[in-house]
Amino acid sequence: MTVLGLVGMIGQLFRHVSPRRYATSIHPERARDLPWSAADPGRNAFDWDDDEAARLTALVVPMVPPIGAERMAGFRFIDEVTVLLVSRYGRWACGWDHSNHHGGPVETWCCDSHSVGEAAETAERVVTCLLEWRDWLEDMAERFEQLAPLPGADAEDRSWHLERAVTRLVTAVVNSTHAESSWYGTCETTLTWFLTSTGLGPDEARKAVEAAIGGRFRSHIAPAPTLVDTVGEDLAISLTGRGFYRER
Ligand SMILES: [Zn+2]
Repeated sequence: MTVLGLVGMIGQLFRHVSPRRYATSIHPERARDLPWSAADPGRNAFDWDDDEAARLTALVVPMVPPIGAERMAGFRFIDEVTVLLVSRYGRWACGWDHSNHHGGPVETWCCDSHSVGEAAETAERVVTCLLEWRDWLEDMAERFEQLAPLPGADAEDRSWHLERAVTRLVTAVVNSTHAESSWYGTCETTLTWFLTSTGLGPDEARKAVEAAIGGRFRSHIAPAPTLVDTVGEDLAISLTGRGFYRER
């Protein structure tokens, strides 16, 4: 690779670094900080139709900074859109820009440099991303319901369900994030949400998830199935005191 090629590549890498928390005076909540009660579509209705899509697009278009504006304007725009969406639809909506490039499941957003452009097109992209994020939450809620241990299950049965849930949910997160940078953050959040959806306290859930993953999931690397199984086992054992020994 030429020196110029290398410089270009480094430039590309840093385009995705977004010092947003320091860039603007608004500090919207991030998806990873949401409790499941605020993210759960079952408890947070979303009334959506073509009219609402048109109203939202019309609100966002004039917020888009002019082409060629300084980069800070792009950061500010993203934060202002988050504030608008949260005030209109609820806290769950803050994840609309939780893009693959930031380790999230939203495909259509990338970052300020690549996703903020011409006004109408940018506004449409915001709407698409909001719907993508909502779909992802709905998909997760459905999975949580299917994977939850039955009420009254004994320790061994709970252990089996937890282990299976980890395998299924980690796989789903890897598929949606393409295991890009910091995908494991979305994985930790998802597993924490799952455990709290089964009744565990959020602090206990987060600690158990962090301990089970133990820093073994890495950016840009999809975990080997054996590692996912081990994480599932560790989590199940730490929460139920039991491994699962029956034939699967
Ligand atoms: Zn980008």
